[in-house]
Amino acid sequence: MILRSLGTFSFCLTVLMMPVLSNAQGVVSGSGPENRITILYDAFGKDASMRKDWGFSALVEVAGKRILFDTGDNRDIFAANVKAKNVDLTKLDFVVLSHRHGDHMAGLAHVLSVNPTVKIYAPKEGFGIFGSSLPSSFYRKAEALPPDMRYFDGTPPEVMTFGSAWQGANFELIDKTTEIAPGITLIALVSEAPGTRELKELSLAINTPDGIVLVVGCSHPGIDKIVEAAANINPKIRLVAGGFHLVVASDDAISKIVATLKDTFKVENIAPGHCTGEPTFAALKQAFGDRYIYAGVGTALEVGSGAAAGQRRGEAPALDTDDLVSYRRLAAREDPFGLAVWRRRLANKEQ
Ligand SMILES: [Zn+2]
Ligand SMILES: [Zn+2]
Repeated sequence: MILRSLGTFSFCLTVLMMPVLSNAQGVVSGSGPENRITILYDAFGKDASMRKDWGFSALVEVAGKRILFDTGDNRDIFAANVKAKNVDLTKLDFVVLSHRHGDHMAGLAHVLSVNPTVKIYAPKEGFGIFGSSLPSSFYRKAEALPPDMRYFDGTPPEVMTFGSAWQGANFELIDKTTEIAPGITLIALVSEAPGTRELKELSLAINTPDGIVLVVGCSHPGIDKIVEAAANINPKIRLVAGGFHLVVASDDAISKIVATLKDTFKVENIAPGHCTGEPTFAALKQAFGDRYIYAGVGTALEVGSGAAAGQRRGEAPALDTDDLVSYRRLAAREDPFGLAVWRRRLANKEQ
């Protein structure tokens, strides 16, 4: 991995050293130099070859698995960033779509254009856009009606299936927290927040010999709840990366979450991005110090093979001026009530 040499920052060469050796059940096995998380989509970052936009995507390479977690907000920008990082989308073990918001899904069309059969894990939601099914017993029957007034002439299929927005895509829908491969768990939780109530979200927990590496998309169910679920797999939380959805949270709410992550769950390293929010970047940086890992678009976080590992650690500001300008411009698009997709659709219709 190549890391930009920034004179004012010091690098810690021993971070996240994860000798991935164990074969114990429920822990990832395998080894190799490529144990890392590469941020492919975000609204801040230092890599001039990457385009910035509001949304999230990361390539997670751990224990010989190549997992694409979320696909960003815009198909073309996603495709450009994938190309800039030389990511071969035909060589993925699977894709995880954290939830049904546009800023995490829009690049899926690009993924499918180059890899139409790739396995895609997505949350199972009733009548959701990833497709779903229900036993036909779910609806009340009126046997006395003539057949032509009855659904399916009165003889419905036992299971009714409902289509996905990507017909033919190889979805596997996840209803509850599931270990999909040894040591790799998709945590499924439901948002209780106004505006996104009933939204189901998947987070990726990888149980390495040095603790859980947790990748989150937008954390609508609450980053504290997601970390709690991860701690049930292994109480040692090595790294949490992704969007914590505190972009409009009050200082009090931020302090509470930061304390929960640091003191209750004793999260070892934190690499916040996306909808975490500027005040939360600052609060996390202050709390975690050199265990705060800068993770803008284009950053590759080493999560194994310590020899080459080096990260820009927390000695620097959480975001510098350039980052702040672009992050603020793009963050203005974030909608805490999850209605941005609707607004964008309306705007498109009006054009
Ligand atoms: Zn979202
Ligand atoms: Zn988001």
